[in-house]
Amino acid sequence: MRRNPDGKIRICGTCGAKALVFDTRDMPHTYLDETHIIKQVTAYYCSTCGEAQLAAGQSGGECDRVFNEAGAFIAKVREQKGLPKL
Ligand SMILES: [Zn+2]
Repeated sequence: MRRNPDGKIRICGTCGAKALVFDTRDMPHTYLDETHIIKQVTAYYCSTCGEAQLAAGQSGGECDRVFNEAGAFIAKVREQKGLPKL
């Protein structure tokens, strides 16, 4: 676990706890009951509810990478289930 790089206390956007820690973790992502793991995501993680808060700029290209990986997974799941592309 790393300290927050700018030392600021951040508030979780999901549960409101002031318990976010800057960390790199594998992030599970679930879509239509299918789950995959997005590896080594650097973000602010809430110690209370576990929600990750991706901060553009602060964590480099992490937002884009997670967005792209999640999007690719969603496309794959939809294809497997025979659903139309989004
Ligand atoms: Zn939270």
